[in-house]
Amino acid sequence: MAELSPFFLKQFVPSQVCLKCEGCCRFQAADSIWRPKWDKKEFTDDNDYVTTIVDCGRHLCRFFNKSDSTCRVYADRPFECVLYPFLLSRHVEGIKAYVHLACPYVQDHHSSAAFNEYVEYLRAFFTQPRTLDFLRGNSRLIHDYAPVENELRYLFTFVL
Ligand code: SF4
Repeated sequence: MAELSPFFLKQFVPSQVCLKCEGCCRFQAADSIWRPKWDKKEFTDDNDYVTTIVDCGRHLCRFFNKSDSTCRVYADRPFECVLYPFLLSRHVEGIKAYVHLACPYVQDHHSSAAFNEYVEYLRAFFTQPRTLDFLRGNSRLIHDYAPVENELRYLFTFVL
């Protein structure tokens, strides 16, 4: 099984912003589409989504540290967590890259030069042979976000 670890993906959202935000890693339902997919069978459901733990009516990722909003598997976290607030969705014409407009940092910065530069960085990242090899070897980690496309902004398409 290919692993993500050979990759370094520069993050768009500063970590100090993420640590103060109450959005990521907490879900409305145990079967939320926003749960990341992963290849660690012992921690995922039948569809490769990370399972959650109920806490005060919310469904927390099983790896989320509520006390300090950190991730207990940060160095080895799922590919979708590394990529977020950007994401990939499977389409008949290829893999489409989007940004999730629910992210407060994206809302504040999606018109900036830094955002456009990051999109170009991502576009280059998804043309690298080792990135494409990883995705070909882990294609089930890419899922279909069509049901929530109204929350996304399309960026670009590439093929595997
Ligand atoms: S694996 Fe880590 S970063 Fe990903 S949703 Fe869970 S707690 Fe958050």
